[in-house]
Amino acid sequence: MTRVLVVEDEPQLVRALEINLRARKYDVDAAGDGATALSLAAQHPPDAVLLDLGLPDMDGIQVMRTLRRWSRAPILVVSARNTSDEKVEALDAGADDYITKPFSMNELLARLRAATRRTDGPKGASSAEATGAESGVVRTGGFTLDLLAKKATRDGAAIRLTPTEWHLLEVLIRNRGRLVTQRQLLQEVWGPTYRTQSNYLRVYMAQLRRKLETDPSHPRYLVTAPGMGYRFEG
Ligand code: CA
Repeated sequence: MTRVLVVEDEPQLVRALEINLRARKYDVDAAGDGATALSLAAQHPPDAVLLDLGLPDMDGIQVMRTLRRWSRAPILVVSARNTSDEKVEALDAGADDYITKPFSMNELLARLRAATRRTDGPKGASSAEATGAESGVVRTGGFTLDLLAKKATRDGAAIRLTPTEWHLLEVLIRNRGRLVTQRQLLQEVWGPTYRTQSNYLRVYMAQLRRKLETDPSHPRYLVTAPGMGYRFEG
């Protein structure tokens, strides 16, 4: 079954969405604010998210940025904000589609079907579950990373990681098992003007290995592909 997380603070709209989605055999979780949405998403990783932007506790864009650190589930923004700047901001933050309120239920359902079709296939829910990354918690033989709570532990002891170290790990974990080029990492973590500063990466990767790897000089999880980039294995 496809699990949809509805993030919306208008009770009547939530009810209408729940009825229509359940009638079409979707599993539905509903959250009336951003904090509830993030905690529900961590407990029951959704296959798709319908996200309002005007939420009582935080902006929907912020919910999306947090979710995007570890989830690749399609996010459909459903919002009354209708300027093109607002749409561009949402799409840049990781939205897959943008539906303007008021909307037709049939159109919303069609766009949801299209979004979930795109993510079906070999990279769908089952392989994501196997990596564990979709729950926001990554466990290896040596250490555990809770990407949502920003908690790292090694052999039961808490490890302190800096925001930059977390950001690097998030990018590597999102591409788990695949090579991430130096350029890509630098651009994503430090920004486009730092694309050639591979010495930054060497320093930070050495730091991460010291904190996380059992034998930092023979890393098992934070692997270097010499001259190319890095890979998270595990
Ligand atoms: Ca709202």
